[in-house]
Amino acid sequence: STLGAMPTERTFAMIKPDGVRRGLTAEILRRIELKGYRTVGLKLYQIPRETAESHYGEHSAKPFFGELVDFITSGPVVAIALEGENAIAGWRSMMGATNPANAAPGTIRGDFATSVGENVTHGSDSPESAQRELALFFAEGELLK
Ligand code: ADP
Ligand code: MG
Repeated sequence: STLGAMPTERTFAMIKPDGVRRGLTAEILRRIELKGYRTVGLKLYQIPRETAESHYGEHSAKPFFGELVDFITSGPVVAIALEGENAIAGWRSMMGATNPANAAPGTIRGDFATSVGENVTHGSDSPESAQRELALFFAEGELLK
C-alpha cells in the first residue's frame, strides 16, 4: 500500500557556531539518529565568507544580514546532509520556530536557544533550497549514494 507514503527527501542541516561552541553537537546528532534520518554527509566546516553570503542570499537586504554573516563565520559549523521520508519539513519541525521565544519545548531551539540571532541549527525550507544548499556545502563525492 502507498497509504501515507511520503517522499524520500534530502535536506541540508547545520549546527551553527553557537551550537558547536556550547558542546551541543553530540546531543543534536543523537536526536537525528533517534529520529531515524540517514546521515549521508557530515563534516566540521569553517564557512568562507562568500559561501555564507550566498547561503543567506535571500536575507541580503535585511538589517541583520551583516551580523548574520559575521556570526555564521565566527567558528566551525557541523554541516549535515540528511535523507529520509519528509526530511525537509521533518527536520524543520525538530528545530522548532526561528525565534526561540516561539519554539516549543522538545524542539532544539525550544530546548537550547534564547536568541533569534543564535538559534543553534539551520534547516533548508523547501526542496529547491535543499538542493541549492547541499550543492553549496558539499562536493558530490562527499555525499553517500
Ligand atoms: P530559519 O533559520 O528558521 O530558516 P530565516 O531563514 O528566516 O530562519 O532566517 C535565517 C537566520 O537569520 C535565522 O535562523 C536567524 O539566525 C537569523 N535571523 C532571522 N531573523 C532575525 C532577526 N530578526 N534578527 C537577527 N537574526 C535573525
Ligand atoms: Mg531560512
